[in-house]
Amino acid sequence: MVWLGVWLVDRGSISAGTLVLFVLLIQNMFKPSRKIVSEWYKVGKLLASTERIEELLARQPAVTDSPGARPAPRLTGRLSFTNVSFGYRPETAADDDRVRTVLHHITFTVEPGEVVALIGPSGAGKSTVAQLVPRLYDPDSGTVAIDGTDVRQFTLESLRRQVSVVLQETLLLTGTVAENIAYGIDAPDSERIVRAARLANADQFVKELPDGYATMLGERGATLSGGQRQRIAIARAFVRDAPVLILDEPTTGLDPESAGQVVAALRTLISGTTTLIISHDADLVACADRVLVLEEGRIVQEGSPRTLARTDGPFASLFGRAVDGGESPVSAGGESPVSAGGGS
Ligand code: ATP
Repeated sequence: MVWLGVWLVDRGSISAGTLVLFVLLIQNMFKPSRKIVSEWYKVGKLLASTERIEELLARQPAVTDSPGARPAPRLTGRLSFTNVSFGYRPETAADDDRVRTVLHHITFTVEPGEVVALIGPSGAGKSTVAQLVPRLYDPDSGTVAIDGTDVRQFTLESLRRQVSVVLQETLLLTGTVAENIAYGIDAPDSERIVRAARLANADQFVKELPDGYATMLGERGATLSGGQRQRIAIARAFVRDAPVLILDEPTTGLDPESAGQVVAALRTLISGTTTLIISHDADLVACADRVLVLEEGRIVQEGSPRTLARTDGPFASLFGRAVDGGESPVSAGGESPVSAGGGS
């Protein structure tokens, strides 16, 4: 265009001003057409996302309220697995015969307020055990019960209200810090939120945020560090005050300092609460009253962390003496598994 314009100016067919005006107008014409192309690209992305959301909404949950299910009363948290076997079922019916049993006849009991650590190699079935408690899946055979009642007899909503979960990756939502702590609670008051944050060692850093508890968190809490996100999750568990607590690798991926702060907060949280801990963190495992070692979906060793640390077996090979002689735990009652002796 410019070449042609210069040639025309040279020949005297148009003036230099006309050429400049022409170039400017051409640019103006291209701007909206470029915008149309980029908007069209966005429409394409939107259509693809809508399809995926539709697919998700159309999925039927595998676990639903059983006929005759009733709301759970306030539970004390006596958790028992009796002869539980389970295998993940492929989504397509054609693959039904390919169900691989992941848990084999698991039986154990956690007394109210007791802290039990599930440890074992990757793929042993630790997370699967934990997922059966709030009924993310139902066992193929055997019974998971809380306070002596099969969890299938409770409505899902009332059961899940009484089981708090702290995972490796905490799901924070776009909203304020206070809203994220009080997530799932009806009519939370700010005093309760601040108290929970204090117990979770989160109050200090929250107060230092630009708007304190009213600070907006980005999607997935991207503006916070891993350790801070975990402490928000712990505060969330404090607010819920559920009688059963599940901690699935809550310190994995954190640097030692953040992990230390998270473990300190968890020590307070698990005190007096029926807790299942899944962790490779020796400090956290040392907080347990009892350890169950899982291998290929079977319980292969059981005992207090201190005793197991001194006994040849899978626990000692996983943790060595790291657990023996650590800090004393705060679990309700019972002999302290790590406070005395150790090391020798
Ligand atoms: P890790 O320490 O790596 O988290 P884990 O002991 O918690 O391991 P699980 O996550 O319970 O083990 O997995 C037990 C077995 O079940 C593994 O073989 C795993 O591949 C399989 N598994 C886990 N989740 C699913 C799933 N959603 N669908 C199918 N198989 C699964």
